Amino acid sequence: MAATLIGGAQPQLENLVGETEGDDAAAHRQHVGVVVLAGEAGSVEVVAERGANAADLVGGNLLALSAAAEHDAAVGAAIDDGAADGEADRRIVDRRLAVGAEVVDAVPEPRQRRLEMLLQQKACVVGADSDSHGRQLYYVELAMVPAVVISTRGEERLRSGHPWIYRTDVADARAAAGDIVQVRSARGRPLGSALFSDRSQITLRMLAYGEALADAALVGRRIESAIAFRESLGIDATAYRLVHGEADLLPSLIVDRYGDYLVVQALSQGMDRLLPEVVAALSDTLHPRGILARNDPRARSLEGLEQRVEVLAGEVPDVVAVTEAGIAYDVDVRRGQKTGLFLDQRENRVAAAAYARGRMLDCFSYNGGFALVMGRRCTETIAFDVSEDAVTRVKENAVRNHVAVDARVGNVFDELRGLERLGERFDTIVLDPPAFAKNKAAIANATAGYKEINLRALKLLNPGGTLVTCSCSYNINEAAFAEIVYDASVDAQAHVTVVEKRMQGRDHPVLLGVPETYYLKCFILRKLQ
Ligand code: SAH
Repeated sequence: MAATLIGGAQPQLENLVGETEGDDAAAHRQHVGVVVLAGEAGSVEVVAERGANAADLVGGNLLALSAAAEHDAAVGAAIDDGAADGEADRRIVDRRLAVGAEVVDAVPEPRQRRLEMLLQQKACVVGADSDSHGRQLYYVELAMVPAVVISTRGEERLRSGHPWIYRTDVADARAAAGDIVQVRSARGRPLGSALFSDRSQITLRMLAYGEALADAALVGRRIESAIAFRESLGIDATAYRLVHGEADLLPSLIVDRYGDYLVVQALSQGMDRLLPEVVAALSDTLHPRGILARNDPRARSLEGLEQRVEVLAGEVPDVVAVTEAGIAYDVDVRRGQKTGLFLDQRENRVAAAAYARGRMLDCFSYNGGFALVMGRRCTETIAFDVSEDAVTRVKENAVRNHVAVDARVGNVFDELRGLERLGERFDTIVLDPPAFAKNKAAIANATAGYKEINLRALKLLNPGGTLVTCSCSYNINEAAFAEIVYDASVDAQAHVTVVEKRMQGRDHPVLLGVPETYYLKCFILRKLQ
């Protein structure tokens, strides 16, 4: 239990002054309470006892009050009072959980008396070091734990499994940027712990549920379990995702593995502050040769955080060699898109390869993920990407893996029309565009864009051919994407069967109830004769 206490702050006597006292309704909502440490006081737990290690247990200065034995009755009274409303022990325990503790030791006598008085007055409990009742009671001076009260609507959202609370559902926030806060219901019930942001529309990202306060050690345990899950998947690659944010109960944290190196992204104020703990946990668990922070996504600016790329541990080369399904890639982890590779498509690339044959066209190829693994089974492979850098990478990777790929720089919208004009035909086509609908306002244009490329691709496809078509816009859900593809098939006058409906790889799992985490759709379609 001691681990739930946050120590180390300066004693803040002022925090006590002006707090509501006693057992009235307001007391249940207090942000500042008293830690009661008792040897055998009903259900109240021992957190520290007077002794050499007491300060270690609570991480601060210990103030043991010498109160007269009869004062112990006040403790009994507090508990009994509470029992009368059925919540006595609960209230004390809640308070203990809601405070950061500092133990005050050897404070000057006048200050000790002042503290004693305040604690008695404000918290309605009395401490004693007398063992006449077999008890040892200590008071702990309080430092406020950051806390945020949410609306009933926010509470319902949490109950439905969504880990975000928006600013509009925050009733009261006593916290600073990046704090781990206790989340409370409008009636003062502790609901869990969250990362607090004072800038984003997403004010809270839940870390843990229930009464116990989350701490950095929890983050370490979550990282270990995320890694253990990935290890259990038997992934045929040296590059994959180790931590996928909310879906690993590590909101706004991404960790990708590239061989002996790790790339992390901390996309909120709270996770940014926890980076030292994240790095320590990753180092202890995996012993990587280096850890790079790819903290350059724009999402960080919404949090008021700097966009920067920096080495957090060890050394990280510019180019890291990895393998996936027997293909070797050189990955530019500092400047490549995302953290270097589109790891979320790993399993879809392998699945698509099973259908690859004849003449193949890879649209939006990036560094050749689909083209290389599928090209091994095709007679001819053409790949298009608008980025010259990406096309250079495809060429290098093709040579390295002895796969013939005709990699060309081009805008897929224009190229598909051009190929159609020339009367070209293909047996296998891949469409893996970037997210066209980055927000709700872009949905109409994105829908038109997806329909256009799917229509053109279906026209270019020989009967019996395979179209692998993807969308990574979470604003266009699976049903909407299926509708777009269907509309395209009607316009192309093609009869099409759905052979597989796939999504992002298992190392990027979807969190039920959080549609934002199901973003990648990949349909494998067959054009009938
Ligand atoms: N299929 C790749 C990932 C593709 S990511 C893989 O498996 O690794 C999307 C790619 O589309 C990016 O490389 C981007 O440069 C490219 N792109 C974006 N707009 C484009 C356009 N209009 N025409 C061609 N390529 C485009």
